[in-house]
Amino acid sequence: MEVDVKKAFLSNLGIEESNRGACAGTWIDTQGEPVVSVDPTSEQAIASVRRATLEEYETVVQKADAAFRTWRMMPAPKRGEIVRQLGNRFREQKGDLGKLISLEMGKIRSEGDGEVQEMIDIADFAVGLSRQLYGLTMQSERPSHRMYEQWHPLGTIGIITAFNFPGAVWAWNAMIAAVCGDTMIWKPSHQTPLTAIAIQHICNEVMRENGVEGVFNLCVGDGRHVGEAMLADRRLPLVSATGSCRMGRRVAEVVAKRFGRSILELGGNNGIIVLDDADLELTLRAVLFGAVGTAGQRCTSTRRLFLQRGIADRFVERLVGAYRSVRIGDPLDPETLMGPLVNAGAIDEMMAALERAREEGAEIVCGGHRIDRPGYFVEPTIVRSDKHLEVAREETFAPILYVMSVDSVDEAIELHNSVDQGLSSAIFTNNMIAAEKFLSARGSDCGIANVNIGTSGAEIGGAFGGEKDTGGGREAGSDSWKLYMRRQTNTINWGQEMPLAQGVQFDLS
Ligand code: NAD
Repeated sequence: MEVDVKKAFLSNLGIEESNRGACAGTWIDTQGEPVVSVDPTSEQAIASVRRATLEEYETVVQKADAAFRTWRMMPAPKRGEIVRQLGNRFREQKGDLGKLISLEMGKIRSEGDGEVQEMIDIADFAVGLSRQLYGLTMQSERPSHRMYEQWHPLGTIGIITAFNFPGAVWAWNAMIAAVCGDTMIWKPSHQTPLTAIAIQHICNEVMRENGVEGVFNLCVGDGRHVGEAMLADRRLPLVSATGSCRMGRRVAEVVAKRFGRSILELGGNNGIIVLDDADLELTLRAVLFGAVGTAGQRCTSTRRLFLQRGIADRFVERLVGAYRSVRIGDPLDPETLMGPLVNAGAIDEMMAALERAREEGAEIVCGGHRIDRPGYFVEPTIVRSDKHLEVAREETFAPILYVMSVDSVDEAIELHNSVDQGLSSAIFTNNMIAAEKFLSARGSDCGIANVNIGTSGAEIGGAFGGEKDTGGGREAGSDSWKLYMRRQTNTINWGQEMPLAQGVQFDLS
């Protein structure tokens, strides 16, 4: 983008040369160290943001806490009405927000727009939810008693997000939390603060139009300062954290120690099993998108491929052909299918993983290099090995696909489940028995298990999250909203007696 065009585009989204990094209804003149947001395509700075200091974080928490006192008393459908307006504003700004996400994070334009679509979808979902949030009614064992449960807002919650979904992950949490009656503080990744600032401007506008302040709040800062302060803060009953397993381990420990709740959405190591009878055309498209899409920087990216021997060589050959035709380049160019990695460190990690794979005796079937041009571009890479590599047990956030051959569905499931992470998984087969086996209690151990659909690209209607080191959290659809509320069981005695439960007698006479 030309400099003037870029400047006008950014200013339209409320992004200036040097941005204030905290907002609690109104923007705070943050005094922390600046963080520079870098365009991974050109390696040029886009704009910088002043981080929040701990004092400024304190101001934000106090405002959010004060806002909670009124927000929790607003009827949920009225909160839903405000979320509806927010969703509409995201609709209006979809093009610009999608473009900003592509510019700052490096995902291709259609994925940037797709991310904003997820924000819109979850807002719509939350609006409907605002008229539900159901509790149950139970039968009391005592005469003339009524027993039921109701759900109350939790308080001010913390939302910590990763760089790779700089808008959608916030929205999954924020839209649901808002209709549930919570206020919130968002700490975005320091690699994508501009998307957060643009979104905060939109929230401010909509909230101002509704005469409400302090529900959606922002605090740009790094994990060590603002992040750690959030984990230890007893005023945040829930911290929803998305990021690496290493980060999640720290969140779990600190938040649990103070009896807080956490939702952990951590790293994945997602596998696809392809059986001999699979529709290979369908499979090829799913594997290609899963492994190469977002340059392998999705938590649900396909990282491991288990091919049944009958089709293994043929499929790898087709896949190599497909990899070679992937157009790599500027994510804003509509022809591009794969953009850059997020920074130079990500390239180093990818190269180190490939080196380890070679040391373990694997073959690099295609790719394996940094591309000689400005920006953090790499070749999507296929690694083939006759055993499950140790390096493939870790999540390397880059487009590396480890391919292994298997004899049977049972062997494939065993290998598939042998890693620490448990986010997304898939099987490609037309054999109903194999598919059901994969979905059964002795099948995939992941939070998401698909048949004839790849590992990435979940819909917001289902609960999203994974098992084992992925953290066990669930976000977005189904009944994930319950994590953002507290459950209260109420029993009302409308009779004239005081019967005790379980037939206990406790009479004075
Ligand atoms: P990261 O762990 O480096 O950072 C994630 C967030 O955690 C950032 O905002 C960071 O500042 C914050 N953070 C780091 N240390 C912290 C601390 N001690 N206290 C509080 N906050 C702290 O992850 P990343 O590189 O931004 O994102 C990539 C990772 O995120 C991958 O592992 C990917 O699989 C994972 N991810 C998971 C999901 C999911 O839903 N399961 C979704 C997106 C990304």
